[in-house]
Amino acid sequence: MIRFEQVSVRFGAVVALETVSLAVEAGVLCTLVGPSGSGKSTLMRLVNRLVEPAGGRVLVRGRDVAGENPALLRRSIGYVMQSTGLFPHRSVAENIATVPLLLGWDRPRIAARVTALLALVRLDPELAERRPAELSGGQAQRVGLARALAADPDILLMDEPFGAVDPLTRRELRAELRRIHADTGKTILLVTHDPEEALELATQVVVLRDGQVVAEGAPAALVAPDAAPFARELLGGGQ
Ligand code: ATP
Ligand code: MG
Repeated sequence: MIRFEQVSVRFGAVVALETVSLAVEAGVLCTLVGPSGSGKSTLMRLVNRLVEPAGGRVLVRGRDVAGENPALLRRSIGYVMQSTGLFPHRSVAENIATVPLLLGWDRPRIAARVTALLALVRLDPELAERRPAELSGGQAQRVGLARALAADPDILLMDEPFGAVDPLTRRELRAELRRIHADTGKTILLVTHDPEEALELATQVVVLRDGQVVAEGAPAALVAPDAAPFARELLGGGQ
């Protein structure tokens, strides 16, 4: 579903990614872990062309994204940003309806979809007319998730989606994501700093370090005694 072939990314003199190759098959929930600055967000942002490679190719649904219209590509891929990235001047309902509005859905269809999404991410329907500033951190992250799911994309990119919430809300959101993934079979790329989250949610874990993939595989394989020491250290597989 998503394939990186020898991809490099530079920002001026900084090499953010160095010849990264990786395949994420359809329906897989792939977690990306690695220290701050290791290239996780950059790798994710290649998929929806918020970042362009200096070398190599990125294929989405079998097609090189370099040949795709960025605006159309982004409408077909849900993206939950590292900060929630909600539009502050728009209501919760308007935020959730961002992509459906771009797609030209009619009002009744949008209203029905917003109602369904609020229920899906377990948000009180009474919050629909609030502004993002009037929400708690956990509520705002649920809105971000609902917005990413609005037009039912088959690919979901989630950059530390549960970063700014308390442990209990985090567990709830994680359980909801697991349910959504099980129900819909979406292909999901998720960045997290939480080893438990990375291992518990994933079918595939990718470990990045200094712009390179240093380990990749099923969760159990990355904490096994013969796994790469850096992966075990990061994921808490013991010494
Ligand atoms: P974090 O866990 O802190 O979010 P990350 O793994 O997501 O880190 P990236 O954001 O992908 O890291 O950044 C990888 C490298 O590229 C870092 O050295 C970063 O400073 C650099 N970088 C990222 N985006 C830009 C940009 N737009 N301009 C310049 N440098 C950038
Ligand atoms: Mg990041």
